[in-house]
Amino acid sequence: MKLKNGAEYMESLRKIKPSVYYKGEKILDVTRHPATAPHVRAAAMTYALASDEEYRDLATATSHLTGRTISRFTHVHQNVEDLIKKVKLLRVLGQKTGTCFQRCVGFDGINSVYSVTYEMDKKNGSDYFERFKDWLVHIQDENFMVVGAMTDPKGDRSKGPADQPDPDQYVHIVDRSSDGIVIRGAKLHMTGGVNSHEILVMPTTTMDEQAKDYAVTCAIPVDAPGITMIFGRQTSDDRRDKLERIDTGKPAFGAVGGEALIAFEDVFVPKERIFMDGETDFTNSLVYRFAAHHRANYGACKTGLMDVLTGAVTYLAQAQGTAGASHVKDKITEMIHLSETLYCSSIACSAEGFPTESGAFMVDTMLANVCKQNVTRFHFEVARLALDLAGGFIATLPSQYDLESEDVGHLVKKYFSGVEGIPTEHRIKIARLIEAMTGGTALVESMHGAGSPQAQRIMILREGDLGKKIKLAKALLGIPQEN
Ligand code: SF4
Ligand code: FE
Repeated sequence: MKLKNGAEYMESLRKIKPSVYYKGEKILDVTRHPATAPHVRAAAMTYALASDEEYRDLATATSHLTGRTISRFTHVHQNVEDLIKKVKLLRVLGQKTGTCFQRCVGFDGINSVYSVTYEMDKKNGSDYFERFKDWLVHIQDENFMVVGAMTDPKGDRSKGPADQPDPDQYVHIVDRSSDGIVIRGAKLHMTGGVNSHEILVMPTTTMDEQAKDYAVTCAIPVDAPGITMIFGRQTSDDRRDKLERIDTGKPAFGAVGGEALIAFEDVFVPKERIFMDGETDFTNSLVYRFAAHHRANYGACKTGLMDVLTGAVTYLAQAQGTAGASHVKDKITEMIHLSETLYCSSIACSAEGFPTESGAFMVDTMLANVCKQNVTRFHFEVARLALDLAGGFIATLPSQYDLESEDVGHLVKKYFSGVEGIPTEHRIKIARLIEAMTGGTALVESMHGAGSPQAQRIMILREGDLGKKIKLAKALLGIPQEN
């Protein structure tokens, strides 16, 4: 595990030169640019915990491929315990960063591609699994961050990949040779893209026979020729005009993951980095497994965020003198209840994990979908309660520039104060944190990250086995099963 801590991770990013744009200009160093640096620091926490005695057991694992100690984010789950450790790790990271630390997408991609390539080779006699393992050992030994790249732009949603007026709306192969392939297209909303080392490209949906060129899985370094990234705007990102500003809410870490459009303009991928080329019949398993793994995470990382939010609101109530009110206590109780309920579903889908043919463990897919569906409700309810308790002043607060102004700073301090003994600046900081965690991009991510709510409902209905449930009802009443 070459990169041993956050500082080494950041140093490694300075050595690669991906083409990254933000607001029309090129970012030369993502570790220092105010728009991207907070996200880099959040991802760096995944490296930091691996070297922290307290968290080493959660943050590292033993590679089943080499026997060496690796980051858990590059590990293939070998048992239920691994799945549960992942959940616990994600909650801790959510608590420590208060945001998305991004590295789980590649982690879930690794686990999905591992089991699917094994099954592809078993059926077709291909050698994707061996290639993938070679690449994975490289990732594990270097301790690289991988961006799992699944979501295509999709253009006209009423048409499939092969029927689009613009064929580039889905990533596809435009050329093949004995050495490799050339791909074109784009992936959207790529969490951690600008601060990863490698991209793991996967198909975004089930492909039919006509879409053979779209059934492609491969790994590419982020700075390969032909790759361009455009970093997305986030709510209030102009408040990051300088580093470490109170007004951003979370000065050290970003409001949300830090997403980018990644464009592939005729990118060459050598043969040894191709893990699917035209096997449309395996696209469904890959998408399904990736989605389930990622949806399982949300009851963990978001619970960590909700822990922070609950703590922030409780402290704010203390600072405002409202902490003793019974309705305040009741609302805080409800926030805790919802957070822990959400966590239960992440633990449950992991505890019900099972081995795939490759030996890699999968989460229970029904429970993972239920978990993510609940995020789209509980996180919002927790945010609503936080805003209710915080009060309207979080929407009208003057800026840090006014707080520090020689002319008006004394007025801000005087009239935004709370109980004696708690500095006004603390109250303002907490208010900004609550503002950042309850609005804009942060909640959009909770709604649509790991798939929009409707995507989970489709899978919940598909796996709900209504036929069996009808039989149960009939059996109870003595109604013949054939009627
Ligand atoms: Fe990980 Fe959560 Fe961010 Fe997804 S949203 S990458 S699971 S921290
Ligand atoms: Fe996400």
